Amino acid sequence: MEVLYSSTRGAEGKFKASEAILRGLAPDGGLFVPDHIPHLDRSLKEISELNYQQTAYEVMKLLLTDYTKEELEYCINSAYDSKFDTQDIAPLAEADKAFYLELYHGATIAFKDMALSILPYLMTTAAKKNNAKNEIVILTATSGDTGKAALAGFAEVPGTKIIVFYPKHGVSPIQEKQMVTQKGDNTCVIGIEGNFDDAQTGVKKLFTDPALAKEMDEAGYQFSSANSINIGRLVPQIVYYVYSYTRLLGEGRIADGDPINVVVPTGNFGNILAAYYAKQMGVPIAKLICASNSNKVLFDFFQSGTYDRNREFVLTSSPSMDILISSNLERLIYHIAGDDSKVDAEYMKQLSQSGKYEITDDMRKKLADFYGNFASEEETAATIKNLFEKTGYIIDTHTAVASAVYNKYLQETRDDTVTVIASTASPYKFTRSVMKAIGHDDASKDDFQLADELSEITKTAIPEAVTSIRDAQIRHDIVVDKTEMEKAVRTFLKI
Ligand SMILES: *Cc1c(COP(=O)(O)O)cnc(C)c1O
Repeated sequence: MEVLYSSTRGAEGKFKASEAILRGLAPDGGLFVPDHIPHLDRSLKEISELNYQQTAYEVMKLLLTDYTKEELEYCINSAYDSKFDTQDIAPLAEADKAFYLELYHGATIAFKDMALSILPYLMTTAAKKNNAKNEIVILTATSGDTGKAALAGFAEVPGTKIIVFYPKHGVSPIQEKQMVTQKGDNTCVIGIEGNFDDAQTGVKKLFTDPALAKEMDEAGYQFSSANSINIGRLVPQIVYYVYSYTRLLGEGRIADGDPINVVVPTGNFGNILAAYYAKQMGVPIAKLICASNSNKVLFDFFQSGTYDRNREFVLTSSPSMDILISSNLERLIYHIAGDDSKVDAEYMKQLSQSGKYEITDDMRKKLADFYGNFASEEETAATIKNLFEKTGYIIDTHTAVASAVYNKYLQETRDDTVTVIASTASPYKFTRSVMKAIGHDDASKDDFQLADELSEITKTAIPEAVTSIRDAQIRHDIVVDKTEMEKAVRTFLKI
């Protein structure tokens, strides 16, 4: 049965998957949501015999229904190839009674690669299918990881340009260097004086500006999004939750039908929403454990039913989660309101006007599968240290937030269900914070020297993504105020 996509805020029109991917955001600023969530049509036992690419096909064919088998296989096989440093694509590592689902084996060593290595193929295929006449301009706000992963995916892709905005003072040195050294004439990287929420709000504004859209169209351009608001990001993320379950099943770590819990370090709520969809599709996930850093707006939401962004924005050692407006929560709000776009639109209006909204008791009841908690900076660092000392396994700061929250959950509930923790970045992406956590902070050393030391101490190899940027030339050095984003876009596109 065909799946069609419509706006969480009620804008008219139902779109095929390829149209929704091309557009990115619905015309009214809402997010595209599927009109129903299909159930897996092969058993988990059968899927457990498939590799990552085949599993991806089994999931994606159900949600991207207007893509042909050939098109999907082309996209999947082009994305999940030797760009990943392991054939497993997303291996599971067992440490201290949990399974870490390592989502960082792609080109930019963060989990964003899982979706952004396939999005350019899904999008250019969509452009062909829909006879799009314009060049696609990918407009992206990044808290650090999306930017590089999107740049790597779209660099030199014919018929596309990509513009990335990042908070100049809100990303790690390695994250920044990864972005500003990006090659490709179709790429543009801009630092803004502002935080991630400013970047994201600015990008959304550009997207929904009808006058700008008209000018763009006249110049032969149309915007699309590589942010997790794009359904083309979300669908590929469902795959690895199915895969982690079927791997555990295939290896006899669980029996068919056994529940698992999933812990996700959360910022924009994209990754955990994918786990929620995986559950709707039939993966026996019991608890969806949402882990926040000190920007704990989601924890407070799960506690109280009120989403309130009016608070101080904190810069933490897990910068990719430094977010106060979790865009993808809008999709969950829409679903727990009973797929009601009126309710969703009203809450989103309140969010943009007063910075908060409160959901009803009925809606709160539908959040029973979620558990939210947060980890402080100290708890995050202590988790890295303890896990390393106990097991020799080294994790990054974002994963450590998840691991710390899992420990809190265990203490509170004694729930011994088999648990998968989404491991969202390589420790080499946040080297200084990781080294500091294990007691090797040295201000006189740069992040690359620290990577050498980290490698020695943990007996792990420095990923190619880090060695290759060490001496790379800086190609992007524009920094603008958060109010000047439109001007910067116009300059790059010469409109
Ligand atoms: C983006 C990111 C997250 C947060 O994921 P969301 O889908 O935004 O919730 C967590 N960890 C890392 C390393 C990331 O890059």
